Amino acid sequence: MRIVLLGAPGSGKGTQAKILQSLLGWTQISTGDLLRAAVKAETELGLKAKAAMDAGELVTDEIVIGLTREKVIESKGGCILDGFPRNISQAEALENVLDELDKPLDEAVLLDIDFDVLLKRLTGRRTCKDCGQMFNVYFSAPKVEGICDKCSGELMHRADDNEETIGNRLKVYQEQTAPLIEFYKANDKLTTIDALGSLEDVTTRMLEALRISELD
Ligand code: AMP
Repeated sequence: MRIVLLGAPGSGKGTQAKILQSLLGWTQISTGDLLRAAVKAETELGLKAKAAMDAGELVTDEIVIGLTREKVIESKGGCILDGFPRNISQAEALENVLDELDKPLDEAVLLDIDFDVLLKRLTGRRTCKDCGQMFNVYFSAPKVEGICDKCSGELMHRADDNEETIGNRLKVYQEQTAPLIEFYKANDKLTTIDALGSLEDVTTRMLEALRISELD
């Protein structure tokens, strides 16, 4: 099965994609994670992407389409696209790759959430620099401040989770990404779930929406 996770920054796409990956063995393809890794490794692609990411703008379609295309082609079994597509031209490019592979998209799942909650989710978000486990100082705080419960790694605050960049990321979402809701609705692929609540509740809603039993 191939699904796209849609939703504003902070709606929980990355967290739910990681949960689905470990529950179902699907491949998570997160353009945000791939770009952050490229920035950290100071690759040519990372250097090109950094300024746009720091400003909360979208990285060019050329970069993210190339990156995603490669990962989709490599992926075996199910795949969860998290953070891609972010605009209509990326959605069209994705359709083309999936058509080429004869592996059509099954569903686009929209994680629907209130604006006020988004702000707390984004400003409170912390990620383990070693294992990638995510926490939130408001909703799911680590047992010891700044330390990962899972591997004792150091928790980082993402560079683009500051208030100024967050404002721009939400604006970019409204202007460029939200039109994808109508795009997938028109293609009869859209499912909307309520993204408020515990991680487990949201995962259960997602599995129900995808008509998947956890034990399959
Ligand atoms: P995310 O982790 O998905 O919130 O992405 C973090 C940042 O990476 C975004 O604010 C963009 O600058 C960049 N980015 C991630 N995915 C895309 C994409 N599909 N298209 C363009 N830029 C992206």
